[in-house]
Amino acid sequence: MRLVTYQSLGSPDLRTGIQINQYDVLDIAREAAARQSALAIATMLDIIRGGEAAMALLREIESAPRTDAVVLNKAVLKAPIPRPAKNVFCVGWNYLEHFAEGGKTLEDKRELPKHPVFFSKAPTAVNGPYDPIPFHSHASTQLDWEVELGVIIGKAGANIREEDAMAHVFGYTIINDVTWRDIQRRHGGQWLKGKSLDGTCPMGPAIVTADALDHTNLNVECRVSGVVKQKSNTRHLYFKVPRLIAELSLGMTLEPGDIISTGTPEGVGFARTPPEWMRDGDLLETEIEGIGVMRNPVGTA
Ligand code: MG
Repeated sequence: MRLVTYQSLGSPDLRTGIQINQYDVLDIAREAAARQSALAIATMLDIIRGGEAAMALLREIESAPRTDAVVLNKAVLKAPIPRPAKNVFCVGWNYLEHFAEGGKTLEDKRELPKHPVFFSKAPTAVNGPYDPIPFHSHASTQLDWEVELGVIIGKAGANIREEDAMAHVFGYTIINDVTWRDIQRRHGGQWLKGKSLDGTCPMGPAIVTADALDHTNLNVECRVSGVVKQKSNTRHLYFKVPRLIAELSLGMTLEPGDIISTGTPEGVGFARTPPEWMRDGDLLETEIEGIGVMRNPVGTA
């Protein structure tokens, strides 16, 4: 099932829907009201927190005959979780080729990590799949790209074992861990600041539920103004999703709606010779097989 958050043209309201094909979305709240459901499902977080009861209702809505779908050319898809309840969890160095390209810019050769590197992006960084990425030229000019598979937690847990981890996954989305690279590095090695400027977490265009996608073998690609910069596959993730969930949940509760961005493959701008950065007016395209493609214009052009 493809779940989206959308905004009808001319309306300020964000609504959640089931995307049933390229053009049509079923409005979940409207369909639920027609069935006199008492479930609270106004937002994507409500739906995820609603667990199996909410999913049963969604499956009923999806399978019923419909006459009044929302047509996507009269709506704009937004980030499926427009305002996460907490920071977006992120993973650094999770494709070996990216680890190697990052290492070549350092003087000493580093050992492969024994545990994943975790950091986070502020909830205010979340951006829609087609919305502009602000070009904060007063802050920096080193704007970099990082296509990543996003994992949405569905079931709460702490100390989750690897063998149980996939039962805690609600679904998957695309994230671009957009990074202001010099700001990332100027704060004592803590990455949060340079990865949390407004607009630096495009997410979407949908959440594909875990039952509908094999996340272990998906092509991922990032293009800047039509030029392919990153091209890999999720099978090359160094720490696999169950390991990430096990490590992150060690003594720390993960909750429904938490988001884990699983790391980026090689081909980022800072590791290129010479380094490359996005410019005001570029178009950032972020694609993962089976989920879709985001298209974010950079700056105001
Ligand atoms: Mg990243």
